[in-house]
Amino acid sequence: MIATYDAAVIGGGPAGTIAAALLAGDRDVVVIEEHSSSGTPMQCAGLVTQDVADMFGVRPDILNSIRGADVVFPSGGKFEVRSEGVKALLIDRSDLDRKLAERATDKGVEIRYGTKYSGHRVSGDGVSVSTSTGEIRSRLIIGADGHSSKVASSLRDNRPKEYVYGIGADVKLRSEHDDVMTLRIGSEFAPGFFSWEIPFGDMTRIGLCMSAGAGGTPNDHLKKLMAALGTGAEDIVSKYAGKIPLGGRPRTYGERTLLIGDAAGQVKPVSGGGLYPICKAAPILGRIAGEALRDDSLTAKHLSRYEKEWKKEIGKELSRGYRIRRMFTNLSDKDLDKIFRIINRDDMRSILSGIDLDNPSSVASPMLRNPQVGIRFLPLMMRAMI
Ligand SMILES: Cc1cc2nc3c(=O)[nH]c(=O)nc-3n(C[C@H](O)[C@H](O)[C@H](O)COP(=O)(O)OP(=O)(O)OC[C@H]3O[C@@H](n4cnc5c(N)ncnc54)[C@H](O)[C@@H]3O)c2cc1C
Repeated sequence: MIATYDAAVIGGGPAGTIAAALLAGDRDVVVIEEHSSSGTPMQCAGLVTQDVADMFGVRPDILNSIRGADVVFPSGGKFEVRSEGVKALLIDRSDLDRKLAERATDKGVEIRYGTKYSGHRVSGDGVSVSTSTGEIRSRLIIGADGHSSKVASSLRDNRPKEYVYGIGADVKLRSEHDDVMTLRIGSEFAPGFFSWEIPFGDMTRIGLCMSAGAGGTPNDHLKKLMAALGTGAEDIVSKYAGKIPLGGRPRTYGERTLLIGDAAGQVKPVSGGGLYPICKAAPILGRIAGEALRDDSLTAKHLSRYEKEWKKEIGKELSRGYRIRRMFTNLSDKDLDKIFRIINRDDMRSILSGIDLDNPSSVASPMLRNPQVGIRFLPLMMRAMI
């Protein structure tokens, strides 16, 4: 007999298990996850704000609290930002995924591990989902299957604007400061994005993302960065790689279909962070999908409210962030060094120390409103926009 559910969630990462837990209760919800457990392989630097950590509703292990950042420009100029309070938490991302999955199970969600989704067919009365362990039927399908979402591709012409490619390693290396991370921009270590060094105890989480086709592989750049820090392969304790969709997907809903997380392209383009958008989008999905299931009204038109509402919540940061990213990728190393010379002043450090890391693009306008800074930025911005 074919198993039948109210909602089939494809992907057992944070987007899938948070959405599934919100929908469970008196509904039959299944999560289809290709791996044999939650939390591995891990593809994340694990940096979130306290607000995001509170939104998960579970408590992941915290590896460190970060109070400041050194942003290193291509020619070595160091822009130091310090804050009185904690700006970010370094969490154990695998532990987070495991705890979110446990919570979903506690709420009655069935998680089918070791099961690969291969496609689905929507008809008037439901969805037939094909998986490696057989077919299931569901009233609604939720694509939470990550950056290369197959569910998202079932909605035509639905690719994200671009991907950046990331790699990271936890390395036996004690950083100079216990609670200050280092971010590097420029073509040497992270062309088209940035690299990070995040301390935790006697270890440092080192990683980077880069644009596609920027020359070299993420692994080449990681080796170069590690060599510059005086460390190497022998010091690596664990390593991970992944890609991040940027610029959003054109559609995040369809007939009996909703998308969330990386599958929906809900990622902050300036930082590559996907956990905050998931925490904001999931309650909206839970409410709208819940009402649609209750009313048996699962048409694309009805579900389109989801996209409207999550965009009202986080769409501005995602679109403004992507405009900033487009400008950033048009800047040469020389331009970036020019920016360092423009912003290397106490009033800019003070603005940046108050940055809301969940809405990082909001820092641009107070910086540009400063007449001495704004006027010097103008030619660079004009050039970057062309
Ligand atoms: C290098 C790197 C560093 C990052 N650092 C941060 C950070 O510091 N902070 C932050 O907020 N974000 C960070 N991110 C982004 C963050 O990791 C993602 O946004 C987040 O994992 C998205 O969650 P998700 O549940 O949407 O997708 P995923 O976590 O990718 O989960 C998708 C799940 O779907 C499963 N799946 C896929 N296809 C199928 C299939 N066909 N059948 C069955 N299962 C399937 C996968 O196995 C996976 O378990 C980083 C990303 C990378 C690559």
